[in-house]
Amino acid sequence: MAVVGGAISGSVAAEIFADHGIRVAVFEQNARPYGKIEDGLPRWHVEQRKQEYARIDARLRKPGVYFIPCTKLGRDIDFEDLTRNWGFSAVILANGAWRDRDLGIPGANQYVGKGLVYQNPFIYWYNHKNESSYRGVRYETPDGALVVGGGLASIDVVKVLQLENYERALRARGIETSFQELEKGVPAVCKEHGIRPEDLGVKGCLLIYRRREQDMPLAQPPDDPTPEQIVKTEQVRQKMLRLAREKYLFRFQDRRLPTGLVVENGRLVGLKVAETRIDGRRAEPIPSTEQDIRAPLLISSIGSVPEVLPGISMRGEYYAFAVGAVPRHTEHRHVFGVGNVVTGQGNIRVSLVHSQAVTQKLLDHYARTGIDTEGSAAMRPSDEQRVTERAEALIDRAECWPALSLSQVANIESRIHALQQRVDYTGDYDAWIAKVTPPDLE
Ligand SMILES: Cc1cc2nc3c(=O)[nH]c(=O)nc-3n(C[C@H](O)[C@H](O)[C@H](O)COP(=O)(O)OP(=O)(O)OC[C@H]3O[C@@H](n4cnc5c(N)ncnc54)[C@H](O)[C@@H]3O)c2cc1C
Repeated sequence: MAVVGGAISGSVAAEIFADHGIRVAVFEQNARPYGKIEDGLPRWHVEQRKQEYARIDARLRKPGVYFIPCTKLGRDIDFEDLTRNWGFSAVILANGAWRDRDLGIPGANQYVGKGLVYQNPFIYWYNHKNESSYRGVRYETPDGALVVGGGLASIDVVKVLQLENYERALRARGIETSFQELEKGVPAVCKEHGIRPEDLGVKGCLLIYRRREQDMPLAQPPDDPTPEQIVKTEQVRQKMLRLAREKYLFRFQDRRLPTGLVVENGRLVGLKVAETRIDGRRAEPIPSTEQDIRAPLLISSIGSVPEVLPGISMRGEYYAFAVGAVPRHTEHRHVFGVGNVVTGQGNIRVSLVHSQAVTQKLLDHYARTGIDTEGSAAMRPSDEQRVTERAEALIDRAECWPALSLSQVANIESRIHALQQRVDYTGDYDAWIAKVTPPDLE
């Protein structure tokens, strides 16, 4: 099996395959395989990040898992080559959603870095900016920034801005605090230091959302909700927003839709924003309500979708997976998806459960594990028995993955080793992680 992406969903799939005696190659674009846990979840989630790192490590160091770091699909390996020539039984895409959804105003993207910033690189910078080896883009966090969003990630963007601004304002008064302290709540920290937040002169950033505040996707109702459950979910959303505003003191406007750009001297200095009329899920701009909202920085945080990769056809913003229990690519019968690459949004648990469910279904429906050779030393008797049973159960299914011959496996292994050697990965997972972890990683 090939798995692309080594974070939550990829490592879960790899572990399940490995536990069933199936060898699995995990191609990961980065040196460290933690994906959105390291580069998405803001760094104040200290304990949660450590726990998830340890879980991913435990899955990827399992016997039978071949980790291939610093190897990006679309750059170091080619999708057509991977799916047609390598000889894998199947390819599982677990490469997440790393492309910011477009702000949707024509011409806006020419102002990226000139007043406009997207969420994914912004949070990446925030999580890594204090490492001495950080060489990426550095962002400013001016007071009064404008954030377009409404989901959980946009609340994190707003928090970053507010924590940076209050830390600076307190420092200007000779009060040293930290992001960990401030994350517990700005008013509480101010109180400890005998100062009122409003006396610090922080204007605060403004979050705008196109629907009503009770529509913000901060909490989700169960499937097929009753009217009472919908009301309850709306109340939970409003409460979450209220608590966040009480702790981080940001400004908020709902029913606001960006409709145009305000540009001066080649720089984006604001947005034209209209009020909206809500009709079900639709948010229609109300004529003659448009006004300019000026801001020193605009951050777009309206969702993440999978990166466009050569060879993987799309349906809209997503890869063209069939809708159903098993997301199989419509043009590649042996290509499947797990985690954020299919769900787009979600959280750690959603990615984990999705990957478990899909991987288990793949095993149940398609897998004839092992290597197709007499007396292969690679298979333990218990494996052999299980394989025989499963193979018998599936023998009539035209779609069974064919078992690979020893020479096919050797061929794949030699290509894997070449890629590992290219980046000096010796096969010792723990030694690699120790080597590539920045000493000052927060
Ligand atoms: C700002 C923010 C805050 C969040 N906060 C929370 C929270 O508090 N709680 C929570 O539960 N969830 C939170 N989430 C969501 C959660 O982090 C994700 O839903 C989950 O981690 C996704 O896991 P995944 O394995 O599906 O995808 P990812 O973590 O995105 O993993 C994809 C992996 O594939 C690799 N990859 C990508 N492209 C390629 C390629 N072309 N070739 C090879 N490798 C590739 C990536 O490097 C990555 O390692 C947050 C997300 C964000 C953005």
